[in-house]
Amino acid sequence: MGASAAYFMAQSGARVTVVERDSIGSHASGFAYGGLIPAHDAGERSTPSSLSELSSQLHARLAGELREATGVDVQYRRKASVMLARNRRDLSDLRPTYDWLRANHRGDVRWLEDVEALQSIDSRLSESLAGGLYADISAEVEPYKLTLALGQAAQKHGAMLRHGVVTGLRIEAGRLRAVIVGREVIPAAAVVVAAGPWSGAAGDWLGLRLPISPLKGQILRLRAPGRPLEYSYWWGSDYATTKPDGLVWAGTTEERAGFDETPTASARDEIMSSATDAFPFLVDAELVRQTACLRPVSSDGEPVIGNAPEIGGVVIATGAGRNGIMLGPGMGRIAAHLALGLDPPINIRNYDPGRFGSSIRN
Ligand SMILES: Cc1cc2nc3c(=O)[nH]c(=O)nc-3n(C[C@H](O)[C@H](O)[C@H](O)COP(=O)(O)OP(=O)(O)OC[C@H]3O[C@@H](n4cnc5c(N)ncnc54)[C@H](O)[C@@H]3O)c2cc1C
Repeated sequence: MGASAAYFMAQSGARVTVVERDSIGSHASGFAYGGLIPAHDAGERSTPSSLSELSSQLHARLAGELREATGVDVQYRRKASVMLARNRRDLSDLRPTYDWLRANHRGDVRWLEDVEALQSIDSRLSESLAGGLYADISAEVEPYKLTLALGQAAQKHGAMLRHGVVTGLRIEAGRLRAVIVGREVIPAAAVVVAAGPWSGAAGDWLGLRLPISPLKGQILRLRAPGRPLEYSYWWGSDYATTKPDGLVWAGTTEERAGFDETPTASARDEIMSSATDAFPFLVDAELVRQTACLRPVSSDGEPVIGNAPEIGGVVIATGAGRNGIMLGPGMGRIAAHLALGLDPPINIRNYDPGRFGSSIRN
């Protein structure tokens, strides 16, 4: 979120400083799965679809732009998704998504009515599955490379990157005057708060309730025998695909574990069990790496993007939860517009940071 906001601001000529406590991409934005699935069903069709559309367009454009600016290939590619139904109930739950896609998506959408139809997509899918849905709606990217390239491209456009912990904001007469980094005070006309799951702290600085919490997720990278998984497979809250590094990435968990980012044996077993239920051949895979990171989740599950209420020059961009890589460029673009005093490129009313109320109690 921060790297993309910095990129768009620096590109338009603003003087930008990125303050990063650790290093760019050292948390969720560097360890996510990188699946880019646009809003695709009835429940997601209202306002989020325009954020999703904006982001999809930007992802497609950024891949070339960032390669040109930095030489980094963010490994953006179109990759179809297959949603798996583990039982008849899952299958009937998928049907409205299929109907919606048939009506609204011009590409290849196929209803896979039973396990034979599913196995025509990949014969290694488990006999125990009930069917599924194939749709060429999605893409993928390598999140670490994307985040890094955004940061580097921002620097090419003149942004400064500095190491430090933001500990407060100086606000006078209802306007941001400076960002406080330990003992240092950096004068600023505007700030974008994009501290991921740690963004809640900014609520205290602003007298704003900002209920953002960490939702831990883990991923296994597996060296699997045989040919790669050609598509991105999704079931329940889990997924698997072969990434450009040649490894099958399988996830994930949704854990309330505070700010703990340590991989655990129980998550490893849970993910492995789910992955081998879907693809029995993965039982012979070798575990190469296990990662864990924290999604920033708001209390109502929606992104938080907009100007802080009643304080000039403070923009908040966080809370994208499981979709932060997908929505990152769109949210960064919106944050950049707001920080530069421009109108946002889409309607962002539903994501208003003021919707949770004030943190000041009378
Ligand atoms: C296992 C897993 C898989 C995922 N897969 C996908 C996926 O397939 N598709 C998708 O769209 N999304 C996915 N996500 C979600 C996505 O990774 C996140 O929503 C997104 O990366 C959040 O980005 P962010 O910039 O808000 O936060 P972060 O990436 O956490 O960045 C916040 C940065 O702020 C810095 N910071 C914090 N506090 C301070 C401070 N006081 N001073 C200075 N710096 C500070 C941190 O060091 C950090 O670098 C996944 C997440 C997980 C955990």
